[in-house]
Amino acid sequence: VTKRVIGIDVGGTTTKGGIVSSTGEIHDRAEIPTDQSAGTKGIIHVVEELLAKADSISAVGVGAAGFIDFPSGSVSFSPNVTYDDPHIRRALEARVDLPVVVDNDANAAAWGERAFGVVKGLQDVALLTLGTGVGSGLIAGGRLIRGSSGAGGEIGHTVVDHHGPPCRCGLRGCLEQMASGTAIARLASEAVERDPDSSILAFSQGEEITAQHVAKAAREMDETARRVLRSAGVWLGIGLSNVVNFLDPEAIVLGGQVVQAGEPYLGAARDTLVAMTQAQKRRAMRLDVSALGADAGIIGAGALALDLLEES
Ligand SMILES: [Zn+2]
Repeated sequence: VTKRVIGIDVGGTTTKGGIVSSTGEIHDRAEIPTDQSAGTKGIIHVVEELLAKADSISAVGVGAAGFIDFPSGSVSFSPNVTYDDPHIRRALEARVDLPVVVDNDANAAAWGERAFGVVKGLQDVALLTLGTGVGSGLIAGGRLIRGSSGAGGEIGHTVVDHHGPPCRCGLRGCLEQMASGTAIARLASEAVERDPDSSILAFSQGEEITAQHVAKAAREMDETARRVLRSAGVWLGIGLSNVVNFLDPEAIVLGGQVVQAGEPYLGAARDTLVAMTQAQKRRAMRLDVSALGADAGIIGAGALALDLLEES
């Protein structure tokens, strides 16, 4: 029997969901802008919109930005989205008469890649989502690492440069501050002060510089843009070497929008990772780009919901 579940992905800008089949395909979709002050209301809205489109839904899975206690599904810390009701799972179960599972968004994405994506069936995997921040989901021995309160496996908040810029988590120089889209934008803003002829400024057209502007300029061989991406990529490689020493994964999966910055960024990360780990004579390890792309969160939340049905 093919079961159908709802998968929801809550990010800083959009809350999106879909009806996910037991083979990992998305059928119907719904999406709203994330209300920065009412994240939980937004989740309920999207779930109800999807429930109205289909009957015979068996469970709901949610991947939400922030530290999410598991299995209670309550938010303990979330710098990017405010949840009007931090007890997401309880709030959802009160509205829909279905089993609900709530986990961190990057954990969901990692689980989706392992269930249906580029690392299908592997036992030891790290996934990093490179966007405004750096999210991560770690799988060891076929299980997600959640820690004692759901805040485990947060590679984005491991420190790679303790003299680096402050982070909303209270630390300085977190990987998130050095290698994310926000970091690329900050490095580029500094770099164009020294190189006002850079085509980064032609792409940003007086607006605030974003990582996309830098990536576009780099594709046109703008040397300043390429240098910025390479320097963020080196920091990413340092972060990845920490992941390798911690987890010894079979594969690392990179997802999120910033992956599209391409070779200057990813190549620098790969070269740094290789240089930092080659003396250890490790078994060959894959560095992959996400196969599910922007759908990883929805499909992964769906995969968590499907697991819930198998357990019951
Ligand atoms: Zn941090």
